Amino acid sequence: MSPFVFNTTKSIQFGAGSVARLGELALAFMGSRVFLVTDPGMMATGIVDRAVTILEAAGIEVTLFSEVQADPPEAVIQTAAEIARLADVGGVIGLGGGSSLDVAKLVALLAVGKEDLKSVYGVGNAKGPRLPLFLVPTTSGTGSEVTPISIVTTGASEKMGVVSPVLLPDIALLDPELTYGLPPHVTAATGIDAMVHAIEAYASASANNNPLSRMLAIQALELMGPALLRAVQNGDDADARADMLLGSMLAGQAFANSPVAAVHALAYPLGGHFHIPHGLSNALVLPHVLRFNAVTAHKAYVDLAPHLFPELISLEGQERVAAFCDRLAALSADCGLPQSLRDMKITEDWLPKLAKDAMNQTRLLVNNPRPVTEADALAIYTAAF
Ligand SMILES: [Zn+2]
Repeated sequence: MSPFVFNTTKSIQFGAGSVARLGELALAFMGSRVFLVTDPGMMATGIVDRAVTILEAAGIEVTLFSEVQADPPEAVIQTAAEIARLADVGGVIGLGGGSSLDVAKLVALLAVGKEDLKSVYGVGNAKGPRLPLFLVPTTSGTGSEVTPISIVTTGASEKMGVVSPVLLPDIALLDPELTYGLPPHVTAATGIDAMVHAIEAYASASANNNPLSRMLAIQALELMGPALLRAVQNGDDADARADMLLGSMLAGQAFANSPVAAVHALAYPLGGHFHIPHGLSNALVLPHVLRFNAVTAHKAYVDLAPHLFPELISLEGQERVAAFCDRLAALSADCGLPQSLRDMKITEDWLPKLAKDAMNQTRLLVNNPRPVTEADALAIYTAAF
């Protein structure tokens, strides 16, 4: 067995209605002043009001920051950290999708005042200490509540990452009821993203691909496979919502320790140039990257396929892998997601530029089970066109 390192969130608290415990937990870990990080979309759902009411009922004074945007820019993070520092809070709670959770992680670090944002970019540069930190996801996708990563937009569209175990929260509080109101297209895109996390983690060429990540990826796909379409079709399906939230967290634990690869690498330029949401970008290239990888990731996909689609157990070898890729594309279509770059109004003359940009994602491409050249990337985008 090869050596590996596996880090994850210390305490995971899962259950329908568990957000009711937020007050007592915050009081115990953070004291009587907390900083709550969320976004304007969440403010409209009533979930933020509910969280604030729960915290205040426990005698906690809440400083609310609701200015998080998708692909959060540096300035927003710095402003939030400054407000948290001035309010002298004892802890930070992130409530929302991946962007809110990513901002909350950095605020907990920067509000201490020992490190500044520019000095912590990269792997292992953030050392802490940080303030106590809880993350409460309201989408089933990013797994940010169990990943040691925050992505920040620097300048116009360039992205930088802060990667350090110090960003893992003290508690991930997972309440499926908070996801009931997610619209179908968001449920679909974030759900496919979570499936990609599990698939890419399982087949990752990373030296840190490990048995814990592979076990988590399998369990994640077993939960999410039967649940995604049901959650898309009926947002109040309690079992489907619970399975999606738990599955996306397990997939997050898997890829936090066995990193993702070419699906994400080819998805990023779509987000950068066309502001296509992360999950949808992944869905658009997913079957085409898997078909490309099938030569070298054959065994991984043969193993995984029946965990996501149990009926594929009746097929063997190449036939099973081909059906796996086809079924993933069909699932995405059944969920109502666009199926081609053309559907996204991307013109064919963009494809060489996208392929060139994908080559910059070396951090991700090194984990791909099959090496990807620029010509390969162009062929994949052409297939996805
Ligand atoms: Zn992703």
